[in-house]
Amino acid sequence: MSKNNIKDSSLPQVTGEELIIYDLRRKVMGMATALIAVISGLFALLIMCHLMGWLVLPGVEHASTLVQINTAICLSLFTFIAAAVKFVNSPVATLHFSRFMSLLLAGMILRFIPEGALLYTFPQGVWLGVLFAAATVSCSWAVIVAVLSFATLALMHPHAAVFHSPLAFAVAFVMLVLIFVLRWLFDAGLRSATLSHQRVLTTRRKDSLTGLANRTRLMEILSDHEAASSRFSGVAVARLDIDGFGALCDALGTAVADEILIDVAKQLRSSHGTSLHAARIGADDFAVILPPVSGQAEAELRAEEIMQVLAEPRTIGGRTFRITFKAGVAVGGGAIVESAEALLHRADLALSEAKVTGQRCLVSLPPTATIASTRREFEISQAFVGAAARGELSVVYQPIVDLVSGRISKAEALVRWNHPELGIIAPDEFIPMAEQVGAIHEIGDWVATEAAHFTARLRATLDPAFQMSINRSPVQFRADGDEEPKCIRIFRENGLMDGAIVFEITEGVLLDNREANRRRLARLRTSGISLSLDDFGTGYSSLAQLHVFEIDIVKIDRRFVAGIAEANREHALCAGIISLAHSLGMRVVAEGVETAEQRDLLLGLRCDFAQGWFFGRPLSADAFEALLRSRAADSASRSEPRRNPVTQL
Ligand code: C2E
Ligand code: CA
Ligand code: CA
Repeated sequence: MSKNNIKDSSLPQVTGEELIIYDLRRKVMGMATALIAVISGLFALLIMCHLMGWLVLPGVEHASTLVQINTAICLSLFTFIAAAVKFVNSPVATLHFSRFMSLLLAGMILRFIPEGALLYTFPQGVWLGVLFAAATVSCSWAVIVAVLSFATLALMHPHAAVFHSPLAFAVAFVMLVLIFVLRWLFDAGLRSATLSHQRVLTTRRKDSLTGLANRTRLMEILSDHEAASSRFSGVAVARLDIDGFGALCDALGTAVADEILIDVAKQLRSSHGTSLHAARIGADDFAVILPPVSGQAEAELRAEEIMQVLAEPRTIGGRTFRITFKAGVAVGGGAIVESAEALLHRADLALSEAKVTGQRCLVSLPPTATIASTRREFEISQAFVGAAARGELSVVYQPIVDLVSGRISKAEALVRWNHPELGIIAPDEFIPMAEQVGAIHEIGDWVATEAAHFTARLRATLDPAFQMSINRSPVQFRADGDEEPKCIRIFRENGLMDGAIVFEITEGVLLDNREANRRRLARLRTSGISLSLDDFGTGYSSLAQLHVFEIDIVKIDRRFVAGIAEANREHALCAGIISLAHSLGMRVVAEGVETAEQRDLLLGLRCDFAQGWFFGRPLSADAFEALLRSRAADSASRSEPRRNPVTQL
């Protein structure tokens, strides 16, 4: 893509023709066309009446009937065209048509000048030429035509009446001057309209505070790029956002904040000359179309350069500030045909990511990235509501095995979502989104209800001591406040408030060290819900904290279990966790046990329970019940200690 293909954004380029289209279309030309159409129609009517003998027009008697008929037909035709032009409302057509009609009108007027009249002393041809020049070209051209015609007339017809009657000469002169003045006035009007329009267009496309382009102008420039390059190839947009601008405004006042914005704009304008287009599109939001880039790496480099320039200390009102930015960069030229809006939106997404991650100031998205993922995200977030009612959700149960006896004494309820279009969506993907949009409450309650009914059934038919673990999101916890969670009523109705239900909470819940949070957890425990700390070791909590919160079970994260081997680091870690937990009166579940070796090592460390693919994958309620039933039948018929449950599946 060549830079020359792209118009400069600093000032809107508006041609005179464009301005006529903008300003005069509705005003002057529209009215003139309508007027000409009416006059032409009247002429046509008069001539028709004349031809029919109903009316006698002066000056037409001598003309041949053929000419009169032609004139009438032409006028009717022009009347029709005038109406059509008005109808289509095309400014260019209106303009040309008006010029043409003014010429015709001049001719018509001349036709009606009686032969003896003073004006007739100046030949019709000269009038026609001058009027034509005035109507179609300019005032100066009309003067040139008049002077040349006058000179020719003086040379060729020195006896013409105009040269011999001072009155005739004066009248002709005044008429000519009148034509020139009218045209000059029209030009002056057009010029002022041009200027005012240019001003309007400029202010409409400029940010009034910083003088940078505004969003409208930015979109125009981007569209120019789109036209000049294929699918925005070589085009990269950076979105820049000042860190903590709100706090800055509060602390220093809006006047200083404005000064800072103006200074930032100045730097942006000067950082890459005319090859960089900068715009202010929000309070502290800037967008920059980077100079043509060869790819993502170069775009990042350019954006980094700009950020470095912007991060330099600046002195405003005698004070030195250092302003930092977050930036999101989107690079065009991908396989997907993108609009200017979509490209800017991608830069917005990159900026949001930069804000979320916090560590990196700059995030850039390659051409194809995130379009699909954001669309998927959008689809998912839209589909949460009613997913349970539509039967798209289900709960699967993963066995938790007593390591010493090999018995399945517990299970963890895990949600599954089978989306009609997107297929199976993993909870790791949709749970964080459901937490964000607040759908976790509906989903969490639904899972708890399903799990409660299933647990009650298992306890009634197979194992009265069976325990069910239910994952409870920190978002649900926070929303509960001092209220009892809604699902407690279901547990109570199903007689499960005797430790049958375990809430799996994450370390984030324990980070809230406030009294209210502690009370909430304590209340749950005393009401008969056990508490289990999920993914232990991945967060920040220490075992001492667990004691404060009276946690019943600690679940060692599967990352530690995965790496466990005789006498290695993970082995030592697991040993430490288990012995400390035991000394604090807690039980331990090892997550993600996939091999017999892992199981044996954990057993050697006196871990209480284990969960993982080695013992069984998450199963549907029916399959899980069948497994439990067969295990119960097995242990009744044989009294084998510590059998590997997998071999019995
Ligand atoms: P989690 O609570 O740590 O659940 C255990 C995850 O580990 C489950 O993934 C399970 O299928 C998987 N897993 C179990 N054994 C093994 C193994 O041996 N090897 C490996 N590699 N993985 C194993 P899943 O079902 O995909 O769930 C992922 C996460 O989604 C859960 O992690 C939990 O944080 C969340 N989640 C699932 N269901 C719910 C729910 O109903 N409510 C809430 N709030 N979160 C849920
Ligand atoms: Ca869990
Ligand atoms: Ca876990």
